[in-house]
Amino acid sequence: MVGEASSSRRKRQRVPSVATEGGGEAENGGGGGDVTRSVTLFELDLLDCPVCCHALTAPIFQCDNGHIACSSCCTKMRNQCPVCTLPVGNVRSRIMEKIVEAAIVQCPNAKHGCTEKFSYVKESDHEKKCSFVLCHCPAPNCNYSGVYKDLYAHYYAKHDDSWNQFKCGSYTSAWLLLSDKVLVLQESGDGPLVVVQCLKEPQGVYVTVNCIAPNAPGVGKFSYILSYSYGHETILIEKGEMDRIQKLSFQIPEKSFLLVPNYFQGTRDYLKMKICIRRLKKDEEKADEEEEEDDEEE
Ligand SMILES: [Zn+2]
Ligand SMILES: [Zn+2]
Ligand SMILES: [Zn+2]
Ligand SMILES: [Zn+2]
Repeated sequence: MVGEASSSRRKRQRVPSVATEGGGEAENGGGGGDVTRSVTLFELDLLDCPVCCHALTAPIFQCDNGHIACSSCCTKMRNQCPVCTLPVGNVRSRIMEKIVEAAIVQCPNAKHGCTEKFSYVKESDHEKKCSFVLCHCPAPNCNYSGVYKDLYAHYYAKHDDSWNQFKCGSYTSAWLLLSDKVLVLQESGDGPLVVVQCLKEPQGVYVTVNCIAPNAPGVGKFSYILSYSYGHETILIEKGEMDRIQKLSFQIPEKSFLLVPNYFQGTRDYLKMKICIRRLKKDEEKADEEEEEDDEEE
């Protein structure tokens, strides 16, 4: 059971370093006069709970046979070791807690240019806001993926679509063929990419608007108003902060969508909408301190 759980997780090849003198020093890359020696751990999975495969955090417990488990797994297993059934949950594995605390890893996006290093338990916090996360090209049949700035340049160079450019603060028409499902708008030149997607379901057409960008502070922060008119009626969705995605999804959205009911569409096979996108001013951003320099003001 336990072996299966840990081997089902992708093998990671990144190399964490475990500082041998003063835990935090490796974080500075060991530069400076005092040489900090570090060790290499080839099995990064050893720093994961063997039961749930999440990064181990203190308190870490062990049974009398030395099998370890994280505290939430101890609770879930009702304090019975999943390997040998001896009690687990009272005795801490202090050495494992120290090792986990001292392990400094490179960002999983290091190969794309991220130079951040952090304690292994902070990895998922960083991954959520890493600006080097891969973003996938939204053009049909294009397999390109890259860091967001490269993706914007790629889209502009390879799929140049001057009809579908937007300018922040102005209304742009967004004509979306139901069979196309996706309309990509790019801010003038090689700026950010916004995708308007539609998904026809029996109850109507779901329309969503997302920016293709990492969830990093300062990148791809927009508000929008999307409206659809039929006859003399108009329905719209207004959102203070556009969601950011790294890849298109064709699932029915759970939130932040405009549902165009069937009676509101007639027999048309397209939606003729209007959209106004605004870049959020820096003071509207929620307490983001490390802002990106390239996210220029309007
Ligand atoms: Zn666990
Ligand atoms: Zn055991
Ligand atoms: Zn990173
Ligand atoms: Zn492409």
